[in-house]
Amino acid sequence: MIEISGLTKNFGGTPVLNRIDLSVAPGERIVVIGPSGTGKSTLLRCLNFLDRPDAGTIRLNGMTVDAAKATKAEILAVRRRTAFVFQNYALFANKTARQNITEALVTVQKRPRAEAEARADEILREIGLAEKAGSYPAALSGGQQQRVGIGRAMALDAELMLFDEPTSALDPEWVGEVLDLMRKVAQARQTMLIVTHEMQFAREIADRVIFMEGGRIVEQGPPSQIFDAPQDARTRDFLRRVG
Ligand code: ADP
Ligand code: MG
Repeated sequence: MIEISGLTKNFGGTPVLNRIDLSVAPGERIVVIGPSGTGKSTLLRCLNFLDRPDAGTIRLNGMTVDAAKATKAEILAVRRRTAFVFQNYALFANKTARQNITEALVTVQKRPRAEAEARADEILREIGLAEKAGSYPAALSGGQQQRVGIGRAMALDAELMLFDEPTSALDPEWVGEVLDLMRKVAQARQTMLIVTHEMQFAREIADRVIFMEGGRIVEQGPPSQIFDAPQDARTRDFLRRVG
């Protein structure tokens, strides 16, 4: 359903993503782990064209995009079908929770405003924040802000949801509620690509764990294999350090 091939990105002549190949099945939950500076965020950002890949193709349910040459229309089409959850939530500070969710639907998906607002209300109930609809981000806890960030992505009904360390910026007390919401999203068989350091969560939720280092996929497999019987010395090293 989703096929990435030869995805490559350089920053200042340094390869950060080195010909990544990755197929994602419908409903599959993939967790990406690896040392910092290894290209995990860049991979997700390239899939959403927040960074422009230098080479590679992205195939999303029948649409094939030559990533380096993608037109504006193609980039918009990919953005309409992928949804990004940021580490720092990236909410509009001057918009309420409800407006933050509505805005993505109106601008990215060109939905009529009334329809977008109705969908935002539905999402606010799903994420347990109906009573905070009119609150601005500054009046919400970190956990609530990230739940809005996830709600905004959920509202897009995207084929692929991308999560870039969604709990890393949170005080420990808010991590649980955000992981709970992600579990709920996963239970709905949403296709997810998640970068996280929450290894216990990864073990529980992932259909597949990918270990990346130096812009490459070093090793991948079911959580039991990656966590309990890693084949590559680099994977073992990394897990020893974080474990
Ligand atoms: P990770 O998410 O695994 O920590 P990143 O994808 O953020 O790694 O970064 C991979 C490498 O690319 C790092 O060396 C980082 O410094 C570099 N990098 C990322 N974004 C940029 C950028 N916009 N400009 C220059 N270098 C960047
Ligand atoms: Mg990162």
